Order: sequence, then structure tokens, then C-alpha cells
Amino acid sequence: MVELTNVSAVIRREEATIDDSTDERSRERFTIITAADIDPANVTKHWFVKDLGFGAKHLRNLEVRWLNLGKTAAGGSTRTLAGEKADASLFRLCSECGKLDTATGRNKRSDHRPWCSQREAQDESVVNLALARKLTTEGLLLRLPLSVTMGDSFAVPSLAASLLLGLRERIGGDPDHLHITTVRDPSKHSTDAHEALLLHDVVPGGTGYLAELANPDIVWDVLHRAWKIVKDCPCQDEGKLSCENCLLPFAGVGGVKKTSRAAAERHLAGLLTGREFDDTIDVPDSMPWTVTQEEPIVTDTESALEKRFRVVFKERLETLGATITPKPTERGEEWEIALGSANRWTLRPQENILGSKPDFVLTSRNPGVPPTAIFTDGWSTTQAPRTTVSPTTPKNVATCAMAATRWSL
Ligand SMILES: [Zn+2]
Ligand SMILES: [Zn+2]
Repeated sequence: MVELTNVSAVIRREEATIDDSTDERSRERFTIITAADIDPANVTKHWFVKDLGFGAKHLRNLEVRWLNLGKTAAGGSTRTLAGEKADASLFRLCSECGKLDTATGRNKRSDHRPWCSQREAQDESVVNLALARKLTTEGLLLRLPLSVTMGDSFAVPSLAASLLLGLRERIGGDPDHLHITTVRDPSKHSTDAHEALLLHDVVPGGTGYLAELANPDIVWDVLHRAWKIVKDCPCQDEGKLSCENCLLPFAGVGGVKKTSRAAAERHLAGLLTGREFDDTIDVPDSMPWTVTQEEPIVTDTESALEKRFRVVFKERLETLGATITPKPTERGEEWEIALGSANRWTLRPQENILGSKPDFVLTSRNPGVPPTAIFTDGWSTTQAPRTTVSPTTPKNVATCAMAATRWSL
């Protein structure tokens, strides 16, 4: 890894000449990973919402690094950096003059600076490296509960966009001096690192704005402003994930397909009320949170079991070579599952069937296959063995009535 301090460019006339072959410049996409050093020594203030697993940390002297791993989809190896798997084709440079190599295994004069001794060499001498950039500034880390992030690929991008939307409403203009990125915040009590949104200043050293923002009532207000916009946005009736009036302006490069108004509305309502989402929730006009300095131990709730089910089910399906296309809905993420071209399934969450609400209903496109109702709460609510469910509960009466296969996990 090389840290970027100075940049110079060498341009050859034939590469730089503008002609009529295309209307637009060709654009390259690069794999860029953001890593932040969440050092407890730099935390000036922290708090958690009781029983929710949501919390905030304000950090001074926060070091944010951007690693550029080379062109996206250029066929390099996969590496795990800052807890994320990423394509890393890296940059292939001449080991002496540092000019970018254009062809593997072949040395060309034009791949070197004029003074480079490798210009005429028979074999090329290259190094592969990533480029890094660093900023030391002020940051506000918002830890998201596992009940929000686990098994929902729309949750984090949609909440990141919501936070910027809420800030625009509070500041009264675009929050240009603040950037947002996703990081992992290690927990004191569990081995699962929580996903977190890191809002950081783009000014070295920070402007002090985030210190003011780091109060619970202000964070609540920012989220509430975003929630008011996404809940009423007309794009919910237009079959769009989000639109230019709500989250789209804040979706970021590559985030558009994962930024969902419906997911944001559901998760914001859960965060604002300080409880897990269910559709009977009323969001109040002022902060109902009980704030604590102690990191709470948040135990698995019923819905965490549903999410764990998703995580495991997804792994198994992917092992079988299935393609999963997630779609956000008001009730959670729906999956279209394709196992080959003829074998298609849909997994719908929280669907009402005959007065019962299984956690999921799995339906095949093949009309001969009955739907499967899946209940993931058997263990935690009854302490019974996972395969046994009393035949007298309304849930089971309903599933019998619809001739569905029932799984209790
Ligand atoms: Zn060279
Ligand atoms: Zn919208």
C-alpha cells in the first residue's frame, strides 16, 4: 500500500487526442474501501438507547483512510479489508518509475518515464499495489442495531441516505461538509461487530459541527425529519425504490439500487420509537428514548431469529447456486429465488394468511407445490424443541386450513 502525497501525469498525444469515436469520455470505476480507526481513546462522548442497540460515539482525531484497490471487475483476487470482501485488481506499476503498466507479461517503452532504465528491458519489472489517502478529522459514529441490519441488504444504504436527508432538513441546505460511510463498530458484549454509519467532517481537524450533533435529542430530530419526508413521499405509489424528492439525491455512487424509501420508513420508525418495528407503531413528536452511558446487552428477539433464518437460508441457497433478487416492501425484504430457469420461488415476510401471520411464506411458481409457512419463533417463545409446535395454536390451525406445509424453526 502506498500513501498518495503527490500526483503527476504523463500524457501521450495519441491517448489524449479527442476524436469523434464516442460522444462521452470513457469512465473507469475503481474499488474504493473506506476504513476508519475507531480508537476508544478518541471518543469524547458516547451514549446508547436503552434496549435498542442503537447508539452514538463522537470522535476527535478520527483517522479515515480510503484505499483504492484498482479498477472494478478487472479480474483480480478478492481480499478482505476493513471487514469487507472486495475485488482487488490493484495497480500494476513499473518498479522503478511507477508508471502504470498497460499489458501483462510484455514490456513496452511507453510504459515508462523517459528516464527509466527499464524502458529497453526485455522483461518487465512490476509491483502491484493499492493507493491510500488519509484524513484526520472529527466523526460521529451511529451504531445500528442488529435487529435492523441483519438479513436486510437495504437497511444500511437506506438509513445512510436518510441521515443525510435529515441533516439537509435541519441545516437548511446540503450537508456538503459532511460525508457518510459504513464501518463496523466492535461490541463489548458480543462477537458480532455492529454495522455503523460514520458521519465525518471533510475538513481536516473537523469544524466542531459534529460535537453539537452528537446529542441524543438532535440525532432523534434529524432522523424524525427524514422519516416525515420518506413516509409521505409520493414515489411509494409509483413503483420506485426512491425518488429525487426523498432519498435518491443521497444514494451515492453505486447505492441507488439498494436505497429504498420503504426500508427507510420502516427502520426509521423503529429507531425513533426505540423499539423494534411492527406495523402498529405510532411515531411520537418528541424523543421517547431512555438514554444510557452503559453499552446495553441486547438479546436476540423474535425478529432477530427471523433475520438469522434469512442469513442461513441465503447461505444454503447460494451453495446450491441459486440467485436471490431482494425487493424491499413495507413488511420487509421479499426474495425472488431462482434455482435454474424452471425452478422459481418467492419468499414473502409477514404475510397474513387466514388470520395467522407466519414469519415467511415460501411459494413455488409450480402450482403443484403447496406454499410453506415458516415460523422462526418456536424456540424462544415456548422453549420447546424446535420441531414441535402445539397443534392448538391459531397459527397451526391456519396453516392446516390452507394445506400449507409448516416449518417451525
Ligand atoms: Zn519504468
Ligand atoms: Zn420519493
